[in-house]
Amino acid sequence: MDFDFEKYKTQGIKVNYYYICKRKLWLFDKGMSFEKNFDRVLQGKILHENTFQREKHKDLLIDDMIKIDVVADDHIKEVKISSKMKNPDIMQLLYYLFYLKQLGISKKGTINYVKEKKVVEVELTEEDEKEIKTALIDIKEILMMKKPPEVKKLPYCKKCAYYEYCYAKEVD
Ligand code: SF4
Repeated sequence: MDFDFEKYKTQGIKVNYYYICKRKLWLFDKGMSFEKNFDRVLQGKILHENTFQREKHKDLLIDDMIKIDVVADDHIKEVKISSKMKNPDIMQLLYYLFYLKQLGISKKGTINYVKEKKVVEVELTEEDEKEIKTALIDIKEILMMKKPPEVKKLPYCKKCAYYEYCYAKEVD
């Protein structure tokens, strides 16, 4: 399919949230950032500041859209605390690889999971590209919605920064 990347490109974190919860994606986009002081978010920031300290090409920001932890010769590296959100992590990294490909740069990727001391290797396939294009179109539609998608009970809701907001009625 013809795909206008400029029209649909978005921040990496939004691709990640799309695969976690579409409501979370919408709330985050609207600046409802309960996340600032949330423990897990702070943990993530500290982890990023303290990892890959010896790498030269660290925290590379492209177009104010994607921030890559490390860019090495033939691959990019991301660091995460644990693999609890492995699929969203992989999709975010695949999106980075897709984004770089639009800029004429071809790379592979790795995710370093610190807690489990595990490295996951990621390579962009044609199928992944199709999936990313579909996700980007869907993300744009979700972000144009006037109201957030309904609360969907997910196994990780209790650990989400928006939990109290989403479940306020039930908490009262
Ligand atoms: S609490 Fe659950 S429904 Fe609400 S944004 Fe978080 S993951 Fe989504």
